[in-house]
Amino acid sequence: MAKRAAKTTRKFIYFFGGGKSEGKASMKELLGGKGANLAEMAGLGLPVPPGFTITCEACAEYYAVGKKDFFKEIKKELAEKLEQLEKVTGKTFGKGPNPLLVSVRSGAAVSMPGMMDTVLNLGLNEETVKAMISLTNNERFVMDSYRRFIQMFGNVVLGIEHHDFEHVLDSVKKSAGKKLDTDLTINDLKKVIKQYKKVVKKATGKDFPEDPMDQLYEGIDAVFASWNNPRAIKYCQINDIRGLLGTAVNVQTMVFGNSGENSATGVAFTRDPSTGANKYFYGEFLINAQGEDVVAGIRTPQQITIKGSKEWAKSQNVPEETRKEKFPSLQEVMPEAFKELDTIKVKLENHYKDMQDLEFTIEDGKLYMLQTRNGKRTAAAAVKIATDLIKEKLISEKEAILRVDPEALDQLLHPVFIKEAEEKAEKITVGLPASPGAATGQVVFSAEDAEAWVKEGKNVILCRIETSPEDIGGMNVANGILTARGGMTSHAAVVARGMGKCCVAGCGDVEIDYKKGSFKCGKHTVKEGDWISLNGSTGTVYLGKVDTVEPELTGPFNKIMKLADKYRKLGIRTNSDTPHDTEVAVKFGAEGIGLCRTEHMFFEGHRIIAFRRLILVAETVKRLKDTLEVKTLTELEKCCSKEQLEAVTQYKKALDELLPLQRSDFIGIFKALKGRPCTVRLLDPPLHEFLPHDDAGQKEMAGQMGINKAEIHKLVENLHEFNPMLGHRGCRLGITYPEVTEMQVRAICEAAAEVKGSKPEIMIPLVGNVKELAMQKQIALNTIEAVKKEKGVKLKVMIGTMIEIPRAAVTADKIAEEAEFFSFGTNDLTQMTCGFSRDDAGKFLGDYVNEGIYEYDPFQVLDQTGVGELVKLAVKKGKKARKDIKLGICGEHGGEPRSIEFCHKVGLNYVSCSPFRVPIARLAAAQAAIK
Ligand code: PEP
Ligand code: MG
Repeated sequence: MAKRAAKTTRKFIYFFGGGKSEGKASMKELLGGKGANLAEMAGLGLPVPPGFTITCEACAEYYAVGKKDFFKEIKKELAEKLEQLEKVTGKTFGKGPNPLLVSVRSGAAVSMPGMMDTVLNLGLNEETVKAMISLTNNERFVMDSYRRFIQMFGNVVLGIEHHDFEHVLDSVKKSAGKKLDTDLTINDLKKVIKQYKKVVKKATGKDFPEDPMDQLYEGIDAVFASWNNPRAIKYCQINDIRGLLGTAVNVQTMVFGNSGENSATGVAFTRDPSTGANKYFYGEFLINAQGEDVVAGIRTPQQITIKGSKEWAKSQNVPEETRKEKFPSLQEVMPEAFKELDTIKVKLENHYKDMQDLEFTIEDGKLYMLQTRNGKRTAAAAVKIATDLIKEKLISEKEAILRVDPEALDQLLHPVFIKEAEEKAEKITVGLPASPGAATGQVVFSAEDAEAWVKEGKNVILCRIETSPEDIGGMNVANGILTARGGMTSHAAVVARGMGKCCVAGCGDVEIDYKKGSFKCGKHTVKEGDWISLNGSTGTVYLGKVDTVEPELTGPFNKIMKLADKYRKLGIRTNSDTPHDTEVAVKFGAEGIGLCRTEHMFFEGHRIIAFRRLILVAETVKRLKDTLEVKTLTELEKCCSKEQLEAVTQYKKALDELLPLQRSDFIGIFKALKGRPCTVRLLDPPLHEFLPHDDAGQKEMAGQMGINKAEIHKLVENLHEFNPMLGHRGCRLGITYPEVTEMQVRAICEAAAEVKGSKPEIMIPLVGNVKELAMQKQIALNTIEAVKKEKGVKLKVMIGTMIEIPRAAVTADKIAEEAEFFSFGTNDLTQMTCGFSRDDAGKFLGDYVNEGIYEYDPFQVLDQTGVGELVKLAVKKGKKARKDIKLGICGEHGGEPRSIEFCHKVGLNYVSCSPFRVPIARLAAAQAAIK
């Protein structure tokens, strides 16, 4: 993971303490987050135990030249810094009478909690232990520190299992009849130490290192080596951390929170990290303890403030008497140290202008600061803190906008699991986090069952190998969707995101058996009716019910959204094809529809029957027209035989049935838009998607059509394509069946005539050649004119196209002669540019990203180097041919922050995304404009 700095500075170690600092907060890349902030705090004159930071560049050097040469290289510098440390502290490393003990901690530029544990009390050996005892007059404390040191060093540096030490500790406690670590006497501790050393000898074949210099080298070596451990690599992968040089190592003078009842150690947040509230100082501490005790959860930590302590007691049902006696606040037990800490808290917040996460230690009543960093927080807290900091005049509006991660807003828009419930739940697998939110329900395996069960008042999760447009009804009523196959732009993922419905897609481990009505996943078998829960934000699947809560869109959320609108340049539209989704999107701030996919409208109720009737005869009608060499249905009616006329009549009847249905859909959508523009895309998917592929479905269709099943079967076979994504779809359908285009355009125009103020825009899909567009456009223009005349209304309807075929991008100047707008369909454009099937690439794209072939899944984050270049080219050519051409994007990338930044940079007018991503897009567009 570590990569050597292009140009290494020869200075590898930076000192802090004694009123001086060689580093500062802005040097995070070099000193790591912890080191940079320690340097900054020391520079501010705060009580930081002195120490030094070995840089991240040193880590890169360690990997470049190898351990042996690296230590040779830094030997002199390390000795100098140690000497400086000895001078500043008045202590000596490895010797008495006042021995210098240090902590050794990792710290990369980005905080990576738990990546590598800390080693405390380094420098203790038989000699310094004696000196420490005479110095402190507290043999128990010294022995306790020594056994902790051997344990931590043994575990972290020597790689000995933690439980080997715990076993020793437990057996000594048992034989001494003691319960807690704190009950152990000096002699007990001596026994522990002796046995710990035996554990080390047995595990490593060597004695525990006595020489403090050896201890230090080994400690540094362990930190650098840990940079490449699987835990760190996984952490970087999960959190999308890339391009770091390595980790730094912080070597710092020990201060002891475990040196008696007047000592303590704790962690604190300057504001509540889960809500962002600024009611009091949030934090916990333990008296007479070292850092690891607070997180280890062995003792109950106490609260920093009286207020916090009382609130804690209330939540834990602890009576005030007991609280005061057993769990008093720091404010009560060490008022002086508390006061100083509280002053430092304010100072640090004002200095960093952000919520801080602090670590401190109190040694014999004296406060020391061990760490500060910008605290991790939930999305709700991020939004609240950012808006509060504007009010407090600590940051500007622009800074506040940049403080909130757009993706994190998702947490605020969907139901979420109650944290504790999720932690307890049994995880069975992890798939792709296709559509965020949390869902819990009973497993069903078909869309019909989903609808039937929900009618009975049940909650369901629809589990499918993959979904198709036929499943839309079931998807709509299910609480969540789980698929075994398919990627982030699979049907399930796209539709679920559009619905704002939780979806986990592409769960490779899930083997669904529709016949048996169950799925297998590892050792689990889940049957129809069993409860499962999905976390669509992480892709995790749980067994059983996990409780959820509805989100609240609070004041700060609205405030940050308004600010985003103030600064963004990109328009934000939505991809929606129902009045309900449109209303949701408008509520989230959508300024129009950028993509209304009309095919979903053909699936509901008896429209699918009408559409299937049309498909049944469409090919016959087309052939008749070709043979009789006529262009229109009217001409055909005049010259065909009575028998042939039947097909034409059925075709026309189906169109006549579909027209009012489509019209009413558009009326609903235009009404929901209240005068906002609406880009309607004409029919796009291949026709076979509208036909049943299973036996039962074909039987049912045959019944409805009054023909036998074999004919349906034959039709399905005829429409079968080897590569339907590159087959008879998009405008190609309109070219074969112009009457469908005409019917759709008529429905749009008649609806627009009815809903005042409507702004329809007609979008011709999958154009690769300008002539395709010109032909479809002519049909649209004729129809618009006809409706205008019939209705006696004025209609202004823009006509444009999608750019989703590379040829369209390359010939965008030609296309722009016909198109008033372009909308980049980057799902198909990615598929066709990279040559990755949208439906199958999920199988290998994960490996491609892991291997670094692609930085991100190009269906999730726009591939700027490849697909992006085509977008740029089309923008340039399009604008050249038509100055006022309107440019948007409606592929899934329209809701992804990095891709949105790209869209801003290349000069698009708007992005369009699913309703629940609208707020994310608003914020991301504002960040793009500010950056
Ligand atoms: C696209 O291809 O980017 C697009 C928006 O269309 P669809 O996903 O419906 O193919
Ligand atoms: Mg497309």
